[in-house]
Amino acid sequence: MTEKVVLGIDIGGTNLRLALVDNNYKTHDMFITNIADYKNKNFKKWLINTINDYIENSSKEVAAIGVGVPGIVDRDQIISCPNITELENSKLKETLYNQFKIPIVIEKDVNLIMLAEQKLLNRTAQNIVGFFIGTGFGCSIIINGRLYKGFRGFAGELGHIPLKGKSKPCNCGSKGCLEMYAAGKALEKIASNNNITIENFFIDMKGKSEVEEFLDNLAIGIVTSVNLLDPELIIIDGGVIRMKGFPLKYLKELIKQRLRSNIMIDNLEIIDSNIGKYGGCLGAGVYFFDYIQK
Ligand SMILES: [Zn+2]
Repeated sequence: MTEKVVLGIDIGGTNLRLALVDNNYKTHDMFITNIADYKNKNFKKWLINTINDYIENSSKEVAAIGVGVPGIVDRDQIISCPNITELENSKLKETLYNQFKIPIVIEKDVNLIMLAEQKLLNRTAQNIVGFFIGTGFGCSIIINGRLYKGFRGFAGELGHIPLKGKSKPCNCGSKGCLEMYAAGKALEKIASNNNITIENFFIDMKGKSEVEEFLDNLAIGIVTSVNLLDPELIIIDGGVIRMKGFPLKYLKELIKQRLRSNIMIDNLEIIDSNIGKYGGCLGAGVYFFDYIQK
């Protein structure tokens, strides 16, 4: 009998990743394709074709599919997805179920990554906030051991808190959002203003005032979550954090400088993750094997 596995799918801003997850939380058959491939085609059709090709070539039996999307998910409905507007208000879960006839789950991408982080940490922390800094400012919250999604799924949208005196329009429809000043979009702008490439950004720009401001904005977002939720653990990850020369130690110092008391500083652990680029796929496996059964 073939082994039953979960197919984890991570729809990112740039790449689509697929991987099989077994019940020992091991990933297999990692596959990546550029999301730009679908441009000018029907996204859902392109996704179904990609999944079909993948499953046909798989050695294991796919028993369920978990999909992480870069948007807000409320009761299985994608209610906001600015990067792939075709998915907004679409019935992706129903479409995939009709096609594959196996259990399907749709979840905000960073929430799946967070479940994988929580599982692999292999420790008892029950109150965790994860920051995933890439093109956008992703955040996911675990309170008392469970994902906290809020009333409509908007919990953790910390990238959209307004910064005083800032006014850049954000694709959420508001302006001056933290994400415009503390994520990849801001780095690209600073790099282009300084005529440097993004690859060595933190090496070429070390100590410059624009970078200091960027890091301070990042710290403000993280400290806001600490004051609001009093977590025992902060996880920091994402494409920006993994860039060459990123001053993680310095960022941790900035965070601690802004915390209000020694009690918080001494009891808050800040760690960077090494879950890797298939964390979202792995999280889909954790979701099925553990989370929905709890
Ligand atoms: Zn915004």
